[in-house]
Amino acid sequence: MFAKGQTVIQYMEQLAPKHLAEEWDKVGLQLGSLHKEITGVLVALDVNDEVAREAIRLGCNLIIAHHAIIFRPLQGIQTDTPMGRLYEKLIKNDIAVYISHTNLDVTEGGMNDWMAEALGIEDGVPIKDIHSEELSKLVVFVPKDHHQKVLDAILNAGAGHIGNYSHCSFNIEGYGTFIPREGAEPYIGESGKMERAEEVRIETIVPRSIRNKVVQAMLKAHPYEEVAYDLYSMDLKGRSLGLGRVGKLKEPVTLRQFVETVKIGLQVDHVRVVGDLDRPIRKAAVMGGSGAKYYNSAIFKGADVLVTGDIDYHTAQDAGLAGLTLIDPGHNAEKIMKVKVTEWMAGKLAEHKYETAVYASGVNTEPFRFL
Ligand SMILES: [Zn+2]
Repeated sequence: MFAKGQTVIQYMEQLAPKHLAEEWDKVGLQLGSLHKEITGVLVALDVNDEVAREAIRLGCNLIIAHHAIIFRPLQGIQTDTPMGRLYEKLIKNDIAVYISHTNLDVTEGGMNDWMAEALGIEDGVPIKDIHSEELSKLVVFVPKDHHQKVLDAILNAGAGHIGNYSHCSFNIEGYGTFIPREGAEPYIGESGKMERAEEVRIETIVPRSIRNKVVQAMLKAHPYEEVAYDLYSMDLKGRSLGLGRVGKLKEPVTLRQFVETVKIGLQVDHVRVVGDLDRPIRKAAVMGGSGAKYYNSAIFKGADVLVTGDIDYHTAQDAGLAGLTLIDPGHNAEKIMKVKVTEWMAGKLAEHKYETAVYASGVNTEPFRFL
């Protein structure tokens, strides 16, 4: 059985929730429809004509890409222009295009974590914080005989994380009252009669990203027809999420050695380097795409080097003067997402026994040649 478009995207948004995208960004479904069965998914960094042809050849009717195919407001779609022809080809071949961009950069276990891992950066934290996760307090009242079952469901769905502790909850016994009205099918009690039930009040904490998942798991495990529960929004903030990662290397290396790590880890043949090649690198920062404008944040967080693409002449001079070394592997180093998203999606689809195939695009969309 093939997965439905909505199902594939639900998995994608478990990896990179849309609300993590920056405000200016264009993410989500950009072209086509998800109301169909997905025969194959092609994961690409950019969508161009060659990628569209690859999707057709592989029988994929969904492309998940990092860079938007529609960014500025469209004035029209003229099919005698290169972009117009691309949109036409995709639509005529019923290929939907879904974009996961800054949300994939920011999310934990996404683009920047993959790049950090490839460079041997340990326990990376964001270079630039942009979200503090919203927290809710979840309170639910459960009959005593179902207490453990509901508690397990809530905590196993991921609620109750505080710092390095998981499965945190508070439980207090009491009693609840209710009168089942006409039409009710009560788990305990009878119609029209005041019931007094031994119950436990469970309370715990839930981050926004998994709130729906936790509530669904709770409702499924709860025996009552109408579950009494509350979600309070809290002033306390959860973990910080943001762009880039900065962290220590396992052991200090010279900039010269670290350049080799970057080339191997990110699979690039050439990099541009700013700084003394013998300088020791203890703490490294990496940001997918164009992150040079955050060089001050990288310095503030103690980085000796910033690895990012698209570094311009003046920023290179300024960062160098400020004492930061730089390595530019090119914007295309983000191609790491092709294999990583493919692995994630193939795992999710296999877990649910879908036949939908997933491919990492083999098209090299690097526009530059180094001669
Ligand atoms: Zn990018």
